[in-house]
Order: sequence, then C-alpha cells, then structure tokens
Amino acid sequence: MNESDFLFDKEHIWHPYTSLISPLPCIGVIEAHGVELTLHDGRKLIDGMSSWWSTIHGYNHPRLNQAAKDQINNMSHVMFGGITHPSAIALCRRLVEMTAPSLDRVFISDSGSVAVEVALKMAIQYWVAKDKPEKSKMLTIEHGYHGDTFAAMSVCDPINGMHELFNEVLNQQLFATAPQIGFYDEWNENDILPIKAVFEAHHQHAAAIILEPIVQGAGGMRMYHPNYLKAVRELCNEFDVLLICDEIATGFGRTGKLFAYEHAQIEPDILCVGKALTGGYMSLAATMTSKTIGETICKTKAGVFMHGPTFMGNPLACAVANESLAILQEGHWKDQVGSIEQQLKNQFSKFEILDQVAEVRVLGAIGVIELKTSVDMESIQAAFVLQGIWVRPFGKLVYIMPQYIITDDELTTLCDGIYQVISNLE
Ligand SMILES: *Cc1c(COP(=O)(O)O)cnc(C)c1O
Repeated sequence: MNESDFLFDKEHIWHPYTSLISPLPCIGVIEAHGVELTLHDGRKLIDGMSSWWSTIHGYNHPRLNQAAKDQINNMSHVMFGGITHPSAIALCRRLVEMTAPSLDRVFISDSGSVAVEVALKMAIQYWVAKDKPEKSKMLTIEHGYHGDTFAAMSVCDPINGMHELFNEVLNQQLFATAPQIGFYDEWNENDILPIKAVFEAHHQHAAAIILEPIVQGAGGMRMYHPNYLKAVRELCNEFDVLLICDEIATGFGRTGKLFAYEHAQIEPDILCVGKALTGGYMSLAATMTSKTIGETICKTKAGVFMHGPTFMGNPLACAVANESLAILQEGHWKDQVGSIEQQLKNQFSKFEILDQVAEVRVLGAIGVIELKTSVDMESIQAAFVLQGIWVRPFGKLVYIMPQYIITDDELTTLCDGIYQVISNLE
C-alpha cells in the first residue's frame, strides 16, 4: 500500500460511520495472525477489538483456514431454496446442541442486522397467526444496539441512536429506561419498575421485547444484573410477549457463559447470533426459535415464514462457522475467558484512581473504561498505534474484547498501552 492507495481510499471509500468530507486517517493492515495485525509498513499491533467481537479464535487460524479451503474445493455457494447441503446441516446441528433446549429451529442469514430483522418479523408473524395482529410493537430498553437497518434502528437507543435523523420513517417502538443496577451490584427490585410499567401499559400492542442480555454493547457497554433479565422473562410470561435475546455481541462465550442469557438461567423465545459465529472469517448470522413458535409462524395465510436472502446458508460461511463452533465445543474457551477476566480485573483496577476515569467495568473477556469526557478519536487512535495496540473507543468509552487465545503477556502489553494513553489524556 502506497500514498496513492491511501489517497484513493480517503477520496472514494466510505468506512463505518465516517464522513466523506473530513475522514479520519485509516491504518493499512496487510496481514493478521493470532492476535496481531501487521501494518503496511511492517509494524505490528496487538488487537484489542477482535474485529468487533468476531475473531475469537484469532486471525488466520489453521483449522478455520482448512475448513474454508476444503469447502471452496467442493463449492463456495449454492442457493438454499429447494436445496440443502452438509455444511448448513452440520452448523445447525451444533447451534441446536449449544443453545437452550427449546431453541431448535434455525434461520440462517447473512448479517447481524438481518438476523434482528428476521427475529422481529418472526414475532410479528407469530401474533398474526395467533389472530392478534394488533400485537405488532416492539418493547425495548434504552442504550440498546441492534443494527443499522430500518427495523433494527427503530429499537436502538432513541437518544444516541439514529432516531433523530430518521424519525419520520422509523417505526415508533416502546422504550423503557435501561436497568441501573450493575452486574456485580446488590440487586434491587425497583430496577424493573420502568420496564414493568411499559409492559402493563402496552402489552396488548406488544409483539416482543428485544434486548441484549446482560451486556449492552455499542449503545454504551453497560453490564446489568442477571435478576433484571430474569424479571423480564417473567413479565413476558405474565403479559404474553415474546422475549428476543440479541446475542450477536455477547454470544459464544464472550461474557463467561456460552450465551449471556445463561447468567439469568432463562431461555429466550427467539435468539439472534452473529459476529463470532464464523470466528470472524466472514459475515453470517442466525435467528433461532422453538418448535412451537416456528410452527405457529407458518400458520398464517401465507403458510410460510416470509423471508429468504439470496445468500442464505452460504456453504463457505457455514463450513467455517461449523469449525469455529467445533473449537468452542472442545471447551477451552471457558478457561481462556476466565483467565482474561481475572487479568482484566487485576490490571484495570489501577485505572480507577485516574482523574480521567469515571468507571471501570469487567465481565468475561470484556473490559470497559468509561472516561469523564469524550475522546478525540484522531489523536487517541494515533496514540494507541504508537503503543503497538489496536483499540477503537467511541465517545467516553475505551473498551477491549480480546481474542480468547491472547496470552497473559500480550494482554499485559494491551492493558499497559491503554494505561499509558489514558493517563496522558488532558
Ligand atoms: C453488531 C450488532 C448487530 C448488527 O450486526 P451486523 O452484523 O453489524 O449487522 C446487532 N446487534 C448487536 C447486539 C450487535 O452487537
């Protein structure tokens, strides 16, 4: 990559949530192995982001590479309408094995946002089939993030999300104040009053509640008490509202449980997974539900569930996802995530006394440092790169969710680099 490549990128290519008028500089990455990104000029960075929660087993994993190569030599793609194939079947078998007993019907799709759209459509179609079409609204909590497509946007945080800009076209959903009691705090029943009030007032019009179990990701990196989720499950039963758990960020071991809903010992009615599903190799997601709900959905006049993307069940993505889940099923993730959690708790504790820091939060392989003021993205990004680490904050939040394979020494380098940068902020 040379100057003119970077110039072309700057002038012609959109990156996530960026301006075409004044884009911030990008670093060029030409290779990645294990937890390391190799830059175009030969520098290496320890990755703290797992490419947004996804590359849990590390980059360039021999088994995932092999699964992709084997599948390419058979077929990269075949349509899923009227056709099935071994990779989709193997993957769905594992998904059914790994998730809650009731979740045994799988809809494979191409990205997290689509998995959320599919979940919302399932919930709405379910109530149409039950002859209650008026149950079409979604309940949710503030500070959520569920994706960038229109229905997903409508359930994202109404203040920090995209509501203002798209207000005229977004479905109006039903929001409650987010839980305030943290994961480790002493539980207090009052935390459920806001959501309970929304259930009481609006359940006749509510198809489902959608939330990220235990850890809210891109909407604020908040970690709430498992009893909150337990109470929401009970409210769903009481008021006949479906529970959609969006585990696109939290799923596959990230919070210390295979799925974050396990912290509350509950089962969702509908589950969305994505991000780490393929070990970060390519885009794939799934929406799962129970036999009863799945079959009810198919009892509308349409007789089918009305969704079916072109690349549904893409064999290449399914083959890699199947191998990624095979690695998880061998069980090492539990010790890996446990030791990352322990080390993060130790090393992040020294952040608490820094003037710049408002709060530190750790759960599983997720570490969050909430600052008192928002960061300047351009300068903090450059400072992290100088430390030899890749960390991408947003707003007041500096956070990492490292790959499960990170060593103690690499994680120490990552934490020390963050400490250097934060303690030198104005
Ligand atoms: C990232 C994310 C999504 C959207 O997934 P995409 O693959 O980016 O479309 C939805 N929900 C949650 C909780 C996420 O973290």
